[in-house]
Amino acid sequence: MINKLIRCTACNQVIPNYQGYELTRAKSLPGVEWSDADLASAREFLRTHFGHSLEEILLEEDSWVSEKPSYEPLRVSYCLAGNAGERFLIRRTKLALDQPASYEIVPGRMKISNVSLKFQESDLRKQIFAEKGFSSLLKERMEKFIQVFRDEITRISPEKVEEEIKEIYDGESCALAYAGLNNSRWERILNRCRLYFDESELKALRRFIDENHNPPDVLSIQIERRISIIPLAGEESIVGLQDRKETEEEMEASSIARSQKGFRRNP
Ligand SMILES: [Zn+2]
Repeated sequence: MINKLIRCTACNQVIPNYQGYELTRAKSLPGVEWSDADLASAREFLRTHFGHSLEEILLEEDSWVSEKPSYEPLRVSYCLAGNAGERFLIRRTKLALDQPASYEIVPGRMKISNVSLKFQESDLRKQIFAEKGFSSLLKERMEKFIQVFRDEITRISPEKVEEEIKEIYDGESCALAYAGLNNSRWERILNRCRLYFDESELKALRRFIDENHNPPDVLSIQIERRISIIPLAGEESIVGLQDRKETEEEMEASSIARSQKGFRRNP
């Protein structure tokens, strides 16, 4: 993975640092190879920006995020990169296996928002079906539990989900996370279930919840997330970012030095 870019300070354009390639090749490190297409685009970049002032900027590896998991080679990812005085938001786009990834500076701030909540219905039904402690009658009546569970989730706003959960588990990309509901929400669900289940069934139900509510287990909810880019308003700085709402994570590029902010690794 590239960890440095060359930036033309006149045109604000970037390209992977192929000097690194030369060094790497000279040392014969295994597993690092650049295609002819990579080298052709590097030569083209150097030709286009001949006479301009070029600088090296370092990618912050912990800041990579993508809506696609890292095992999918064709994806768009974002990352922060900087030099001594500036930081930039970088978009990496890989469109075809036989083409090199392209890198560009995005003038804006990245925001990750929760867009919807779902429950793992199919896996939940399988788990209920497999429960040894449930009679076949109870398995049928669990339909009522699923209705209550579904209804309670629809009452939670995706933007405010952090107020309703006690634990979160990152999915394979930033577009998905699993969350365990907090105890008060579970008590509410169990209370509503009193209408449909007798005491011994409620006891079995409580045990079932205890065993399956931790993320990413079948009673944890799925949070779907999206990346969006918010254009910068003038010379807006990132300083206020620490005060961001819990439901969103943001990063931005500006020409003002600022404190670092961590992101899940997902190049
Ligand atoms: Zn240039």
